[in-house]
Amino acid sequence: SRILVWFRRDLRSQDHAALAAALGEGAQVWCAFVFDRDILDALPSRADRRVEFIHDSLAELDATLRANGGGLIVRHGRACDEIPRLAATLGVGAVYANRDYEPAAVARDAAVAQALRADGRDWRDFKDQVVFERGEVLTGAGTPFSVFTPYKAAWMKRLADADLAERATGLQGPAPGAPAAERNARAAQSAPGAERPAAGRLAPPPPGHELPALESLGFERTNLRTHGIPTGESGAQRLFDEFSDRIGAYREARDYPAVRGPSYLSVHLRFGTVSVRGLARFALQAMRADPAASEGAATWLSELIWREFYFQVLHHHPRVAEGAAFRPEYDRIAWETGEHADRLFAAWCAGATGYPLVDAAMLQLAHSGYMHNRLRMVTASFLAKDLGVDWRRGEAWFAAHLNDFDLAANNGGWQWAASTGCDAQPWFRIFNPVTQSRRFDPEGRFIRRYLPQLSELPDKHIHAPWLAPAAVLQQAGLRLGTHYPRPVVDHDVARKATLARYGVLKGEG
Ligand code: FAD
Repeated sequence: SRILVWFRRDLRSQDHAALAAALGEGAQVWCAFVFDRDILDALPSRADRRVEFIHDSLAELDATLRANGGGLIVRHGRACDEIPRLAATLGVGAVYANRDYEPAAVARDAAVAQALRADGRDWRDFKDQVVFERGEVLTGAGTPFSVFTPYKAAWMKRLADADLAERATGLQGPAPGAPAAERNARAAQSAPGAERPAAGRLAPPPPGHELPALESLGFERTNLRTHGIPTGESGAQRLFDEFSDRIGAYREARDYPAVRGPSYLSVHLRFGTVSVRGLARFALQAMRADPAASEGAATWLSELIWREFYFQVLHHHPRVAEGAAFRPEYDRIAWETGEHADRLFAAWCAGATGYPLVDAAMLQLAHSGYMHNRLRMVTASFLAKDLGVDWRRGEAWFAAHLNDFDLAANNGGWQWAASTGCDAQPWFRIFNPVTQSRRFDPEGRFIRRYLPQLSELPDKHIHAPWLAPAAVLQQAGLRLGTHYPRPVVDHDVARKATLARYGVLKGEG
């Protein structure tokens, strides 16, 4: 039989559910990726780190598939036209793909499946992006969870119940956690994606379907490489190897943006250049086998579970993708409007609010496409609860700029910070941006990295320069309003305004 495997956000050859299934069936297997015009044409900039990340990751995937007798067919067009057309050209009986849970992707896949079936071909999709999906983790009453802690407990229980070794797409394949030599040996033995000996074989792409240059797709190179953001499976492996040595310190280190605490794997999880099963397995092993790493590994596993929590929120409540507050009563909140709101929002986007930690975070996002988790919470809270600007504007800004932008996690994170979401921060709890700065960047090391004009300020004053005595500012060579903005709002005033704004919800906190 002949099968086409359609790659989307699963740009790897190892531990890949759809590819493993196709090869396991003994088929002749083609692999394809479509640069989807429905997505690319809507991007706000022609210099987009994500498109470059995908492009370079595909080059590596293509090389790996070629080394195993296959290769990647790459198309540039509308996926819902290209895939059925390609399936017909190749004469395949079925198209296999890994499931994507975003509403637009669900609709696209339904259209592709329908077109294929109308043409006498089959469509099969697989769970791959998550350990547990959709309705796999439910309350005892069979309803979706809306609070994280019991969701996590049920997730862990379900994992313990599952016979991992027997799972179809189980936590097998060369694990990122395995020592490099063992990994290489195992990788050399198995065809890409094969978890058991593969009966099928990869078919080479027909001529004329090679990966085009980034420029011919209408995109430019960005600073992805100069920022040292590694792409592809090998890039994910490199980040993982480095993180696995410090996972034990994750719990303490993860909150300090100046410290290399987190894994930086989010963009790889986003585009599937790493298998979440492999990562979850590694974290579990570290929790059980290594007392020194146990707490850090458990905390990190929790973050992977948050990721799945938000995927299931999106699956059960797709309206959150359409701008709705998870808790509908929060749509009664009246946000700032007009020119005043536009000015505040522009200052936030530009990293010019006058609050150094907020501004440094926004500059980190602009320069690199990454923002530290603590800072995502601080900046999101600042937009909604200090500036009174509709959180959906911030959500859209993050969506346009984050390398790891993922609708489920981004929406979940914003609704958490704005208190409108599932298991969110209570609305009357408001981060103080100066206290956060003193606590999580005590020496201003992160701030100084992005705001060199503040670098000469003493640690004590770097978190709130407007409170520094004139002599200190003068000695630091800093003129407020010229070299660095004065604060656009006063936190104490803003806090009261926010409590009044959210007051429409009294009793619903
Ligand atoms: P690590 O600390 O190493 O965590 C490991 C992985 O767990 C991450 O790569 C990510 O896949 C997952 N994860 C960690 N924290 C969360 C979380 N709170 N929610 C969901 N998954 C999590 N994450 C995204 O992947 N894409 C987004 O678009 C996104 N937008 C966010 C917006 C806001 C307002 C907030 C508060 C958080 C957002 N997050 C998002 C979650 C989190 O900030 C990032 O996943 C994390 O900073 C990525 O860095 P890392 O890979 O070094 O994380």
